[in-house]
Amino acid sequence: MEFSKISEDSARYILNTYNRLPIAIRKGRGIKAWGSDGKEYLDFVSGIATNVLGHCHPKVVVAIQKQAQRLIHISNYYHIENQIRLAKLLVTNSFAEKAFFCNSGAEANEAAIKLARKYSIENFTQNRFKIITALNSFHGRTMATLTATGQEKFQKGFGPLLQGFSYVPYNDFPALEAALDKATCAIMLEPIQGEGGIKVPSADYLKNVRELCDKNNIILIFDEVQSGMGRTGKLFAYEHFGITPDIMTLAKGLGGGVPIGCMLTTNKFASGFQPGNHASTFGGNPLACAAAIATIETILEDGFVLDNCTRMGEYFLTKLNLLKSYYPEQIVDARGKGLIVGMELMRDGLPIVKACLEKGALINCTAGNVLRFTPPLIVEENEIDKLIDILDDVIGK
Ligand SMILES: *Cc1c(COP(=O)(O)O)cnc(C)c1O
Repeated sequence: MEFSKISEDSARYILNTYNRLPIAIRKGRGIKAWGSDGKEYLDFVSGIATNVLGHCHPKVVVAIQKQAQRLIHISNYYHIENQIRLAKLLVTNSFAEKAFFCNSGAEANEAAIKLARKYSIENFTQNRFKIITALNSFHGRTMATLTATGQEKFQKGFGPLLQGFSYVPYNDFPALEAALDKATCAIMLEPIQGEGGIKVPSADYLKNVRELCDKNNIILIFDEVQSGMGRTGKLFAYEHFGITPDIMTLAKGLGGGVPIGCMLTTNKFASGFQPGNHASTFGGNPLACAAAIATIETILEDGFVLDNCTRMGEYFLTKLNLLKSYYPEQIVDARGKGLIVGMELMRDGLPIVKACLEKGALINCTAGNVLRFTPPLIVEENEIDKLIDILDDVIGK
């Protein structure tokens, strides 16, 4: 199909909820993707931190194929062995003791919000239901997670929002301390803000937050939907900060491109949910879990993926900082951890995204002026070099 026809049908049949770039991607392998124009692209978006092993990783493909032949879906009214295997893998490799599965990041955060409220109301008082989140955070688009998202631009027009949420500046511990009151049941944070512009907090911020929660019996929720699954060079971002949360949510990279979400917690907080309290029809289905098992096993197999992520992340940042030194009037900052990387510009980033597309690279822009790079964790030095050349071309114009 010609692109003009694709674009026409898209406008006719698809709700207009995205400003889409003028291309349809048809095929992907590793970091490469091919468009309806027949051109090859270097994919530094990877479905927004989703295809952690690149497009169509053979282990993920085979796992899906095998499972699709055996059993695709079965209700959670029965034990699902793949779900149990996946839960065991996640628990063994994290602070957590129990897992709940759903289908997306927003759903995982909904589960976390509901569990925090339920646990607090049952174990403390009926009036303990407030959740503090950060300004510029992103937690999803459902009504509760939209309310949790500390950005008015996403909330406008959808009121009244849910009760019981308040917001504090990110990485500002005194502000968080001052915002606590007797009704606070939980604090919900991204250990690294993604959509908000790739913000890495200072070394002691999350440690102080953990202590504050311990002192006041407040539940600490980490939204690792974007930062989790090896993205930062460790399986989970919290591992960089020497602390653990009470609840953690995952989605994006968890299924290596297949939709799946997860809420992880300890036995203590897991006790807040009993049969009938929360559920998901598709959550933890055999097919999605097979993809997630293959993804995690590949990430952890021999340490290569995480190690590569750390090394390539450092290499990438060095190169971006070099670019910044060439164009100090255009580039404000380059930052990140592992392969969640941002480059803040003086101006709107969208024209740069479009220019990169024309030159064969897929990148993303968030928070208006922050170019976001979330390549697959298997990216190689020469691919980073190619992207840097393209950025140099485009920014230097
Ligand atoms: C993408 C994202 C979400 C929402 O995930 P969906 O799967 O789109 O619902 C939530 N939190 C963070 C940190 C995210 O990056």
